[in-house]
Amino acid sequence: MRTRTDLVEDLMGRFPHVPREAVLKEDLLRGGMAFDESVLTDGDDGEVKPKSYFIFSFDHRTLPELGAAALRRPPEEVVLTGGPYDLRRTVVSVRVNPDSPYRVMAGEDGVARLHLDGRPIADVGLPPMPDYYRHTLTNGKSVMEVAPTIQWGYLIYLTVFRVCQYFGAKEECQYCDINHNWRQHKAAGRPYTGVKPVDEVLEALEIIDRYDTTGTSHAYTLTGGSVTSKVDGLAEADFYGRYAKAIEERFPGRWIGKVVAQALPRADVQRFHDYGVRIYHPNYEVWDKRLFELYCPGKERYVGREEWHRRILDSAEVFGPRNVIPNFVAGIEMAEPFGFTTVDEAIASTAEGLQYFMSCGILPRFTTWCPEPTTPLGRTNPQGAPLEYHIRLLETYRATMEANGLSTPPGYGPPGAGNAVFSVSSFMDTLPADAPVSA
Ligand code: SF4
Repeated sequence: MRTRTDLVEDLMGRFPHVPREAVLKEDLLRGGMAFDESVLTDGDDGEVKPKSYFIFSFDHRTLPELGAAALRRPPEEVVLTGGPYDLRRTVVSVRVNPDSPYRVMAGEDGVARLHLDGRPIADVGLPPMPDYYRHTLTNGKSVMEVAPTIQWGYLIYLTVFRVCQYFGAKEECQYCDINHNWRQHKAAGRPYTGVKPVDEVLEALEIIDRYDTTGTSHAYTLTGGSVTSKVDGLAEADFYGRYAKAIEERFPGRWIGKVVAQALPRADVQRFHDYGVRIYHPNYEVWDKRLFELYCPGKERYVGREEWHRRILDSAEVFGPRNVIPNFVAGIEMAEPFGFTTVDEAIASTAEGLQYFMSCGILPRFTTWCPEPTTPLGRTNPQGAPLEYHIRLLETYRATMEANGLSTPPGYGPPGAGNAVFSVSSFMDTLPADAPVSA
């Protein structure tokens, strides 16, 4: 019988120019990893930085199903090194799946290792609890709740609106569990602030600024669900913009400011820019027209795919093309029952979208799809997309980028296997290490 090790090693052999680190990272991101109790974090009081559930669950089970792995919290990320594949330092976001053939456990020597099919394949470094997580806001809230950091501390992730106004089967994106994740944290009695007050965000950032003495944090992302009516009496651009304005007034230029929002009309985008936001992520999610309509019914109804794309191009005139970085969810192109049935077709479609944007100087990026079990696509595709799709996407992405003369995007830290910190896909691990970085 073909094991997961066979699959991984076959792809490493067939795609030798894709770093081995990226092959394993993509497999861990699409399928998750299991955690032995010996490597859980003990939550807020331990020595290891816990998983913050910064926007989506990014797990293959619900919190009640995860039991101890949820209560004692897995780490936010792991860093892999060494082992039989001689891995360079590889940062991987943690997606928990108790049934995964990948398992993290501590050996008798106390060293945590990643096992695949029962064989140790990498040493595992766990993220240390940052100093700033040991302090609380004056109202008692934790910094992890208000301003968690990911990407090994590089990025402060400010999900200031924890739900999405696209609601229910006819509006929610079919791969997104933001609303379910909100409900499950509330049901578990965890603090999970729906709308984060601006002064709480500023206070949490002050704590980070004070205690991040090694200067690890370089950027912040303002994000959350889409706003189709109003939140706190504000439409989407004003709602997210008020945080950017307050942050940039209080900490001018301290971090690279990014906003993930809908593709908004040009005047709204201009306001983001005027407030000091440097990078705009109007995520296009999936390129194929039919799949966008099926998977993003809310976005299709309120904005529409063609208008969405037109606004992405418009925003490049405001921010400059290099600073417009729309995301897509890599893998949903192949989700049953509507997706492409062959890797060739899926890659051809995605490559068309990459070329469309890259030919305009806009460099999209992607996160690797995690098929969360409470989403429609996760339910019908618990295994996610084929690993070969993810590996060929890395190859296609780099080739399209180079063909269009583009270099590493700003705001993602260093590129290259062994250097990258971007943890939710391996596109940065796959770019050349000596590629120029703009920020
Ligand atoms: S717009 Fe779609 S992907 Fe974004 S939060 Fe709402 S449902 Fe999720």
